Amino acid sequence: MKQKILTIMALICLCFATLAAMSIQVGQTAEVTGSPTPRVPPARQLLPMPSLPSPTPASASEVPFSCMLQPVPNPPPARSSPTPIQLPLSRFRQSNPVDLASTRTDSRSPSYTPREEVQLADLTNFGDRYLRDVHGRSAVHDPIVVLHETVGSGQSAVNYFQTPHPRDEDQVSYHTLIREDGTVTYLVPPDKRAYGAGDSVFRSATGTEEAVQTNPNFPPSVNNFAYHISLETPADGDNNNTTHSGYTDAQYQSLAWLIAKTGIPDSRITMHKTVDRSGQRMDPRSFNSQLFLTLLKTYPKTREISIGCLPPETA
Ligand SMILES: [Zn+2]
Repeated sequence: MKQKILTIMALICLCFATLAAMSIQVGQTAEVTGSPTPRVPPARQLLPMPSLPSPTPASASEVPFSCMLQPVPNPPPARSSPTPIQLPLSRFRQSNPVDLASTRTDSRSPSYTPREEVQLADLTNFGDRYLRDVHGRSAVHDPIVVLHETVGSGQSAVNYFQTPHPRDEDQVSYHTLIREDGTVTYLVPPDKRAYGAGDSVFRSATGTEEAVQTNPNFPPSVNNFAYHISLETPADGDNNNTTHSGYTDAQYQSLAWLIAKTGIPDSRITMHKTVDRSGQRMDPRSFNSQLFLTLLKTYPKTREISIGCLPPETA
């Protein structure tokens, strides 16, 4: 009997040790990764179809919100997670929102609520946000939202992001994906740096150019202060044409619902094709900005989605 109790206790200890190792893995790997990516959006036919991770909920406190001081000059290769890690929804959107009443533009909040899911990207495909760039200069800018489209199917994009990519130039991710049925899929925690726009710059309303170099081998980009959202492209857009049939009403509703929860002002919502400096990006194609902005005004702005490296008084 005594031996049986000891065996059970040993198994419990082993479980805790495994969970602790998983949380440490997230922190360590996130510290050493760090490169924007100039890759094109993943194409549907080229992507592998790995099995999805099994749900093993962890507490939000095991992956704390944080920004790193500065990237190391020659970052070691990024490491993937040996086991799938599942994070709770609260790690992507807080359940205790701060309603920014002063920015509310319409007191009538729509009842629309999308389906939400978490499909965490592999640890090689995102990194930390930094307070200083590779040259030691301040890397802190007010956050922006950058809109994309997947070109291929939403699931093929998720599969690509969940596939380990040890080489810097292969890494790519968005924070969040909005599928054709309006489902909001969270991929990268908002305080982490997704690799959504490689060679890029944001020109603010006052005319200043904002970009941060976080890897000496890649040009400056907006990734350090960007929240990347991608719309699933309709099937007739799986090509290089300049237009397609557009996005669904559910996608526009979910997009407005989501962006309102970042608290980011309209003047800092932009598109990949706008911030791109490579001359190769034209996404999101066929995007109805007027419809989106009309819907955005109907949702109260909150900070349920907290983007890292904000000054403490505004965080
Ligand atoms: Zn894009």
